[in-house]
Amino acid sequence: MLLNASPDLRQQITENPALHPKIGLRHSPIVGAILSNGDIDHIAGLLSLRESQPLAIYAGNPVLEILQANRVFNVLDVQKVHRRELPFRRPISLRGPDDAPLGLEVEASPVPGKVPLYMESVTQRLGTSAGDTVGLRVTEIATGVSFYYVPGCSELSPALADWLRNAALVFFDGTLWRDDEMISSGTGAKTGQRMGHMSMSGGTGSIARLASLGIRRKIFIHINNTNPVLAEDSPERSAVQSAGWEIARDGMEINL
Ligand SMILES: [Zn+2]
Repeated sequence: MLLNASPDLRQQITENPALHPKIGLRHSPIVGAILSNGDIDHIAGLLSLRESQPLAIYAGNPVLEILQANRVFNVLDVQKVHRRELPFRRPISLRGPDDAPLGLEVEASPVPGKVPLYMESVTQRLGTSAGDTVGLRVTEIATGVSFYYVPGCSELSPALADWLRNAALVFFDGTLWRDDEMISSGTGAKTGQRMGHMSMSGGTGSIARLASLGIRRKIFIHINNTNPVLAEDSPERSAVQSAGWEIARDGMEINL
């Protein structure tokens, strides 16, 4: 089960043997995807999956509406690719395209964020928790072991803090180190806040705001290429690690 389908999905599949076909020419071990928002970098990979391979796609209603409104996604045959609505703040059992339970439960929680960039001409929902962006909690039903996945988040609201408290593992939005990073590096005109991302550093940053939540393992994901923590010898990388965070890398495997 994929968490989001980024445009480099084909490369991810090529580089990870666990995602290779196992039985015959048309097989894929991928049974579906859970989408945390409608950003291009979270949905475009759906178009790289085989058009007539059975899949289950889970997303909140705002994201399902985007897939529905953009007819290019009809290439994923609706007879075989089942679109299922993720309710908010209510765990549901994940099922494959054949309806067989996967032994996993997912709960989606709206987090502060915004509509995708290409939707800003249609609606100006910025900095809201309307479900345009969700965080996911994935639980193995047999053991109760769970982790949280929050790749985009513009603010740690009290509700989100309560949701993440005492988690065993949180993957969190590590897009930017500083809010004005895109502007000061000459790569963009928008602040992180305007793009729907809280920064790692600073008093309202994720390092400070998640420090007292009792989270056992914290891993930054969704890291922009302007973020200095990507350089292993940078002071920012040292600061992140001293604060008890890890930086995700391609091919990382985690056992809970
Ligand atoms: Zn993204």
